[in-house]
Amino acid sequence: MIQMIGVFCQYFDLLRDIMANLAYLRIFSAFAFIILMGCKEVTPKKGETIKPKQQVVVKDTVVPSMLKEKVTPLKLLADTTFVRLADYSDDFMYDLRYATTNNFLKSKVYDCPECYTRVKTAKALLQANNELMAKGFKIKFYDCYRPNSVQYKMWAIVPNPQYVANPVKGSIHNKGGAVDITLATLDGKELDMGTDFDFFGKRAYHDNYDLPKEILDNRKLLKETMEAHGFWSIRTEWWHYNLSAGTNDKVANFKWDCKN
Ligand SMILES: [Zn+2]
Repeated sequence: MIQMIGVFCQYFDLLRDIMANLAYLRIFSAFAFIILMGCKEVTPKKGETIKPKQQVVVKDTVVPSMLKEKVTPLKLLADTTFVRLADYSDDFMYDLRYATTNNFLKSKVYDCPECYTRVKTAKALLQANNELMAKGFKIKFYDCYRPNSVQYKMWAIVPNPQYVANPVKGSIHNKGGAVDITLATLDGKELDMGTDFDFFGKRAYHDNYDLPKEILDNRKLLKETMEAHGFWSIRTEWWHYNLSAGTNDKVANFKWDCKN
């Protein structure tokens, strides 16, 4: 009997050792699994994006598309409301010359570059741009709405109605219905229109046909597209377009915010 108890105890000790080793093995396996999972490189499935493990905090991380979501749709606004064109499309280009000294005044008359128009002008421009984009081009702006106070500034520099509209009467730029534009390719290369913006001379005239075919074709594409969307041109400036429906609007004088 004593012998039997002795054998049982021996087996019991052995069994306890095995169980203890198994527990260690389980803990070890769990650690190994966690480490392996941590080291494993996550490969994204097709069409899936992987978030960075650490969120990088960047100051002023306002996603433009989120800003756009907050913008009131044009169809909900009155046609005479002024809007910032860039809030409604990323498909335009801008070179707002009066916010620089690279203009015929050699003077910076805007505090910062912005392109505002009335809603009806914006709608027409968006449609014209969509049509142009289908052909591989897009609109590039030199000037849009111009506050009446800026018209006074310009008049003080060049008091000549041949080049600057009299501020007392105001221009269609002051009404938010005129834009100065050119065309660029979808990758941003400006088309040759024969002269720079604000070149005052015969070479900039629409009825000057003494120009290479490429230039005439470029001007024709711009003019025909703009006319198809409710704009009319003036004979002496290939870049200037007035929205017909904007002619009778009031001269405006709000100034855009330059804080952004
Ligand atoms: Zn103009």
